Amino acid sequence: MKLRQLFSFVGRRESEPASDAPPMEPERVSLTKRRTAARRPLTPFQKIALDHESTAVNGGAIAAKWIWRGGTTGCYRPEHQARDAAVYIIRGNWALEKGLIGHGDGFTDETTKPLEEEGCRCGFQYFYNLRDLPEDYLTAKGKKTLAKVRV
Ligand SMILES: [Zn+2]
Repeated sequence: MKLRQLFSFVGRRESEPASDAPPMEPERVSLTKRRTAARRPLTPFQKIALDHESTAVNGGAIAAKWIWRGGTTGCYRPEHQARDAAVYIIRGNWALEKGLIGHGDGFTDETTKPLEEEGCRCGFQYFYNLRDLPEDYLTAKGKKTLAKVRV
């Protein structure tokens, strides 16, 4: 029964969609649900990472610096060592919206997070204020704003 439904669906896609074709949206949603359910549960480290992130974002963090922790008990991933001290911008934050900071070394949602990958012991140091960010990451407007505040 299921197989026949699938074939009739495939057949429809090649020609014009029939008026009684099922809408695509519910099928996509159920696929996503199934994929989520099949995903492995979060490790304790991943839970900590998620907690830290949501606390920081809710607290108004604007960027995060990657802290690579090497050594025998640290993170062995060379690609993480390469990220050391990179500053990732939190998408949609107020300083970005006002054009005060640039795009940094990318956005936090473009890479895996510290502790997310197996064996990772890296961390994020979150920045909440313009003055805390390395000056290189500010735009000209950002630098001007900061200078005004400092005076
Ligand atoms: Zn790592």
